[in-house]
Amino acid sequence: MKKQESEDFEKFCPNCSSTDLELYQGGIMGRMFKCKKCGYIGPVMEKKVLK
Ligand SMILES: [Zn+2]
Repeated sequence: MKKQESEDFEKFCPNCSSTDLELYQGGIMGRMFKCKKCGYIGPVMEKKVLK
């Protein structure tokens, strides 16, 4: 089967599920993000979004 080109991934906070995230500088374990809503800092989850 042909893979859908319309798939997209949305990052969201594993703590509060907010998608209002910003890249957090200073992490040494790869990409870290900060949640603007709850203040969570760390790796975030990604969910597949079908458009
Ligand atoms: Zn959050």
